[in-house]
Parts: sequence; structure tokens; C-alpha cells
Amino acid sequence: MCGIFGYVGTKKNAPNIVLEGLKTLEYRGYDSWGVAAVPLEKTSLGTNTITIKKQAGKIGAATVTDMPTSNFAFGHTRWATHGGVTDENAHPHIDCTGTISVIHNGIIENYEQLRTKLLKSGHIFQSETDTEVAVHLIEEYSKRMMFTKAVQKAFNEMEGLNALIVMNTKDHKFIAARNGSPLVIGFGFGENYLASDAAALLPHTKQVHYLEDGEMAIVSEKGVMIFNAKTGSFIHPKKQTLTWTVKQAEKGHYQYFMLKEIHEQPGIVTDIATGSTSHAARLAKIIKKADLTYMVGCGTASYAGLAGTVLFSKIANQQSVPVVGSEFFYY
Ligand code: GLU
Repeated sequence: MCGIFGYVGTKKNAPNIVLEGLKTLEYRGYDSWGVAAVPLEKTSLGTNTITIKKQAGKIGAATVTDMPTSNFAFGHTRWATHGGVTDENAHPHIDCTGTISVIHNGIIENYEQLRTKLLKSGHIFQSETDTEVAVHLIEEYSKRMMFTKAVQKAFNEMEGLNALIVMNTKDHKFIAARNGSPLVIGFGFGENYLASDAAALLPHTKQVHYLEDGEMAIVSEKGVMIFNAKTGSFIHPKKQTLTWTVKQAEKGHYQYFMLKEIHEQPGIVTDIATGSTSHAARLAKIIKKADLTYMVGCGTASYAGLAGTVLFSKIANQQSVPVVGSEFFYY
């Protein structure tokens, strides 16, 4: 699962805020990373292009102090699916004019058809990824419609399970869309955030809205607008307050997040058994009635699901099937 983090506001060190955000998402695993920013200063010709720093490998001791001053930036930790692990294939990706950039989580299943069409129209690709078709498609559509509409049209043409964030140099706002891959909006004062996991937002805000499948959002420092990606109709944000602390979301004294999660298991099982009995009982009832149960998880959780199917069979005498989250759509 890749990591996504975006900042729009008035603080002028946006690239660094984004890099720190990406570090909190490192536990998700990744093979390359990158940050894009719209510089505050325009060139002497009054134009502006997006500055990108991206590379294969871990963030480690890397900094973004060489990036320009900016209050509008986003970043990505990639888990390659299409195209090797190279600097060029790392996100963010950029259009032919250098003024539109995209980060993406998921797989654009129909990317080959879209790429062929875009190549014929003269677009120049710099990477082997499926993601890059999104930015050129948006560039193409934005020649003849408003930018938000162009993103909406491009997103609706992308098949598969995807989360997308787009920025351009003209508007000081992100356009984000989700279908199957997680995205959460963080509400600040005079600044707003986007991330693939609420844990990354904890140092900045506890007010969040989890984007639902098929939702799009316009996120600027002034506010957030959410609408249905298909119909364009307005959706009222369902703000939630996070109840966890930064400390709870950290690795603590454990060497790895996985180790922390393993050690937390006895406490969590006890909490469920004593604190959330009604939820557990309701779930047990549903499972008992079902013909079949799927155990869905990503990464290590999918192995836990696999082990869970054995326990289900032995203890509960119930049949269940383990499925990796990214494949569940096909079931
Ligand atoms: N499919 C995209 C790529 O290979 C996105 C991968 C991801 O979700 O990190 O670049």
C-alpha cells in the first residue's frame, strides 16, 4: 500500500511538512518516494512550473531543503505495480507542460488503451507507469474544459481501484478522488491536508473526513468541497474526530510496526471480548448465518487472515476464504 500526503495552506515549508508526513506512512512499505511543490516565487517571465524531487529507495536521511519555498505540495511513497523501481517511475508524475502533477495509489486497469490514444495525440511519456496516463489525460481534457471537470472526466474513465490527487500551478487547491484505495482529508485552520492514512494527520489535526468510494474533493487552504465523482452532486462532509494520540500511532520502543501490532494483539482481543461485546456478538451472528466468510487483508494482515481461516475451520467449524485486499474486487 503506497503512502500519500498533501499539504495546502500558508506555511512556507510545505515540501518538508510533506516529507515528514511520508515518513509516518513508511510502515506501509514502499520502494521509492517523491515530493512535488508549486514554488511560491514565479519565474521572471511570470510563469511557474512544478518542482519535483523523487528517487528510488528509502527516504532515509534525505531532505527536501533543496526544493523551493512553497505552501502547496504533495508526496508519495510508491509500491511499484507497473514499471520497474526507478527514479523516473517514482511518483509524482507530470504532464507535458510541467504545470500539472499527479500522485496515485492503485492500478489503472485500462492504462494501455489510454496510453496508446495519448501517444497518438502527441503526449510524451517519461515513465513506464500506468499512473502517468492519468496526468496526460487530465492535461488533454483541461485544454477544453475547466480543470476540475477535466480531472472528473479522466477519473471516471480510469478502470480499477484507484486513489488520485492532482495539483496544478494555476489553482491553489488539490483535486482528489477515490475508488477503492483509501484517502482521508484532514481539516486545519487556514490549511488542509490529504493522506492515505489518518495516522499521518495526527500531528496536524484530529478533524477528518474519510473519502468514500466514488467521492471527489477539492481541497484548498480556505476549505473542502466534496462531491459525487459520477453525478457531480454536492456531498456534505462527515467530519469525525480522531480519538487516538500521536503516541499510539508511533512505533514506540518496538523495532518494527509489525512487532508492535503482534504485541498489541492480546490487549485488543481482550478489549473486543470485554468492551465491544455487542459488536462482536452481532458479527458472530452474521458469520454464523453466512454460507461463506472471506478473510480480507493487505500485506501482513493477509497472512493473519490465512491463519484465521485455519482457526475458523478448527474452532468455529466454519468455512472461510483468505483474500488479499487488492484482489477482493474480483471476488
Ligand atoms: N500503479 C502505480 C505504479 O506502479 C501506483 C502504485 C502504488 O500504488 O504505489 O506506479
